[in-house]
Amino acid sequence: MHKLVFATNNAHKLEEVAAKIKGQIQLLSLDDIGCFDDIAETGVTFRENASIKSHYIHDKFKLDCFGDDSGLEIDALNSEPGVYSARYAGEHGNHEANINKVLAGLKNETNRKARFRTVISLIWNGEEHFFDGTVEGTIRHERSGSKGFGYDPIFQPDGYNITFAEMSLDEKNRISHRAIAVEKLVAFLSK
Ligand code: IMP
Repeated sequence: MHKLVFATNNAHKLEEVAAKIKGQIQLLSLDDIGCFDDIAETGVTFRENASIKSHYIHDKFKLDCFGDDSGLEIDALNSEPGVYSARYAGEHGNHEANINKVLAGLKNETNRKARFRTVISLIWNGEEHFFDGTVEGTIRHERSGSKGFGYDPIFQPDGYNITFAEMSLDEKNRISHRAIAVEKLVAFLSK
């Protein structure tokens, strides 16, 4: 079996990838390899942050690995929150405050265009490969829905009249930025 580390401690993300990966690959989490380090996301692009994670693990544990980074880009806010999506209002992971800051920033703004993006950096047999996924949409004026996480209650993907937070998890997982990037990763690993 070819060992492959997913540089995450997020059980949902791990499950999503594990369900899609077939063949001679043993998927491992950071916990599985005994890595409890806080890998600092100091990059200014999703690509840099994804790459920091995969290189950190590869350098320290000498294992093939991939890392991901995602976030929301809003046109009228000069592509913010971007890599700061998790900590846009200051405190890491305070989704309530993050959404409030976005809605305040877009007050009276008619251009509501936005997109979620994911970039994955994979180090496979010592070489780095990138995979990305994007889902275009608009930012609602108010929250709607209670499923999902993060900015889901205010993000309406193009072609739908509901937000990510009103969609079933299955449906979101079919069209999301992360799903698109993961599909490309899995296609590469299945070659
Ligand atoms: P991560 O890189 O996947 O941990 O995502 C960083 C941040 O981007 C999260 O904390 C959320 O604020 C935001 N984000 C990423 N993906 C999603 C999503 O699918 N829905 C809502 N927010 C997301």
